[in-house]
Amino acid sequence: MSERIKMVNPIVEMDGDEMTRVIWSSIKDKLIKPYVDLNTEYYDLGLEKRNETDDRITVEAAEAIKKHKVGVKCATITPNAARMDEYDLKEMWKSPNGTIRAILDGTVFRAPIIVDSIKPFVKPWKKPITIARHAYGDIYKDVEHRVEGKAKVELLITDEDGNETKKLVHEFDGPGVVMGMHNIDKSIESFARSCFNYSLDLNQDLWFAAKDTISKTYDHRFKDIFEEIYQKEYKDKFEKAGIEYFYTLIDDAIARVIKSEGGMVWACKNYDGDVMSDLVATAFGSLAMMTSVLVSPDGNYEYEAAHGTVQRHYYRHKEGEKTSTNSMATIFAWSGALRKRGELDKNDELVKFANCLEKASIQTIEEGIMTKDLLSLSEVESKKAVNTEEFLDEVVKRLESLI
Ligand code: NAP
Ligand code: MG
Repeated sequence: MSERIKMVNPIVEMDGDEMTRVIWSSIKDKLIKPYVDLNTEYYDLGLEKRNETDDRITVEAAEAIKKHKVGVKCATITPNAARMDEYDLKEMWKSPNGTIRAILDGTVFRAPIIVDSIKPFVKPWKKPITIARHAYGDIYKDVEHRVEGKAKVELLITDEDGNETKKLVHEFDGPGVVMGMHNIDKSIESFARSCFNYSLDLNQDLWFAAKDTISKTYDHRFKDIFEEIYQKEYKDKFEKAGIEYFYTLIDDAIARVIKSEGGMVWACKNYDGDVMSDLVATAFGSLAMMTSVLVSPDGNYEYEAAHGTVQRHYYRHKEGEKTSTNSMATIFAWSGALRKRGELDKNDELVKFANCLEKASIQTIEEGIMTKDLLSLSEVESKKAVNTEEFLDEVVKRLESLI
């Protein structure tokens, strides 16, 4: 074997749960370690370890990403009542993704992996559409109230000097509902900067859409913050790169996205991002083909697959059955992290390897070898479904001939 590629700085590696944990170690053993002298700082975010450390391990992993700038994360269980029993948990630990996102103050960018022989449901789409979702506030941190009958609802704002401002929300004649929500400039500013930086990284246009014609203060603040930051900090960089930033209304954005070829970053408010990322994933084919990266405003990157731990497959795997679980998004989490590490360290060999790994994976599917979930979507004539490990072995074959 020729010499393995050296890495100067480490990647923060976060292991996870269930089927994705199984895939995780196979990807490393088969697709990475034979070619790269893998340098990682390992954190086990598997539920058992989180429980054992009172979830400190998750915080430590996030701090490590701040230090080393690049992380790669396996899917993890977010505990619910059933998991409390299954894993005999001390507490219903919070979502690791939520914890990491809060510490890094980042924005999540999701994009589909495009394979020629898998056609999106939306005909004109040819290039990936990256959804950037603002992950703070709005209805996800709101206060809601059921009004039972005749009532007057007011918004009361008390500033730090004790001055009060009152606004009438509604005079209720009968029962109804009411809600209070908020956002903060600081969070919107980080979101905007993450989006501008990521667009420059990808060399793609940035779209941002909200509903400022109706929401003349709330949504308008989002629009203004994006515009101010763009004018002050990014206009020159965007012009130099030959890319564009623009704001439009959310309904207009949707009409334009559907008619577009793709190939842009679409920044969404929290709720819009929740809905649109599922729409984009489904329209491009499969959740198992969605990549996800958390980017912080000060330039830290955490790569992962957008899907979960594929629990149902794992239970079959534990019974000794061979599953056909799609490893593409997890492979791309690794290639994304390796490429970013290579870019930051000016390690061309590593960047090249990451590109080859992606190419080999896509080529495998284009040549008709895929996991079951893709079989009905692929337009290749002589296609066949393989199991989880067979797919990885097929990728290895193509990787060998590419490097
Ligand atoms: P999931 O793991 O994404 O799986 C849902 C279903 O989608 C699977 O049962 C499977 O359908 C299909 N699927 C997803 N990924 C696939 C892949 N790579 N290959 C083939 N099929 C795939 O979601 P879930 O079952 O709702 O959640 C399971 C666990 O994951 C939960 O504990 C949840 O907390 C966690 N989760 C973690 C993350 C994260 O860490 N980022 C994200 C979401 C969920 P079929 O069974 O029909 O084949
Ligand atoms: Mg959703």
